[in-house]
Amino acid sequence: MGNYAIAIHGGAGSLMTGTVTAEKEKEFNDKLSEALQAGYNILSKEGTAIDAVEAAVRVLEDSPLFNAGKGSVFNSDGINEMDAAIMNGKNLRAGAIAEVHTVRNPISAARAIMEKSKHVLLASTGAEKFAKEAGLEIVDPSYFYDDNRHKQWLATKDNDSINSWAGDGIPEGTKKHGTVGCVALDSQGNIAAATSTGGINNKKFGRVGDSPIIGAGTYANNKTCAVSCTGEGEYFIRNVVAYDISALMEYKGLTIAQATAEVLKKVALLGGEGGLVAIDAQGNISAPFNTNSMFRGWINTAGEKFTGIFR
Ligand code: ASP
Repeated sequence: MGNYAIAIHGGAGSLMTGTVTAEKEKEFNDKLSEALQAGYNILSKEGTAIDAVEAAVRVLEDSPLFNAGKGSVFNSDGINEMDAAIMNGKNLRAGAIAEVHTVRNPISAARAIMEKSKHVLLASTGAEKFAKEAGLEIVDPSYFYDDNRHKQWLATKDNDSINSWAGDGIPEGTKKHGTVGCVALDSQGNIAAATSTGGINNKKFGRVGDSPIIGAGTYANNKTCAVSCTGEGEYFIRNVVAYDISALMEYKGLTIAQATAEVLKKVALLGGEGGLVAIDAQGNISAPFNTNSMFRGWINTAGEKFTGIFR
């Protein structure tokens, strides 16, 4: 049985050490740990990377702590509008979904698009119809309502500000992106990536971020790496971040650490904030961010587990 490993993120942001209550910090770390474990249990039984990334992301989508699924932020219309993508590095197959309001686990809908349709990206009502026909769990949009997120939206909706985030145990004015993502290597040597998000608080209705754009927020190729991004999506789209990391490894022979650092520098040069998790086919993990914090965790090829928020 070959090496296997997994890494996740729960979003990058401006949280500073000491500004979040110890209780809240534990809650975040426990949920990250649970998500890692869900994916790792699959990998340790010779399961596939694609199953592992989907399972880990579903745990984070079902938690109100993160801006994806149940914890999604509100758009400028006061609606939760979600995006997600998944990619299999073994065969470069990919599926993505954008602007959905009723699919409980958008990542599973992305996977259904990858496996049960001839397309890569479905959006809006068509995507919802597809998810329903594929047998996925459909919920009333009120399922995604969260009081803290709603307060956050009310505080920003009239001033065109897009991502100031405060919630229970988190200081006012904190920027937190909160998208969730996972990358994994399985014992067969295949890698995969998955990303799911509610986008950015108070985003314009119909706005689609980087998460469901293959090559921008999500990418996987066995030859190079699997990548899942978080941050100001527009900058990640303009820099084609996930594919650029892969291209630097493929065409310039950079290591995963060198490639991720190089591309994140380009994001910062344009003024963009965020981070990512990436893994290569040997199980090397890279999780850089140019913000104060990034919810993140991994279990490496030695079986060592880490979860953390701050630098
Ligand atoms: N990248 C996501 C987007 O722009 C937001 C985030 O990471 O929180 O939709």
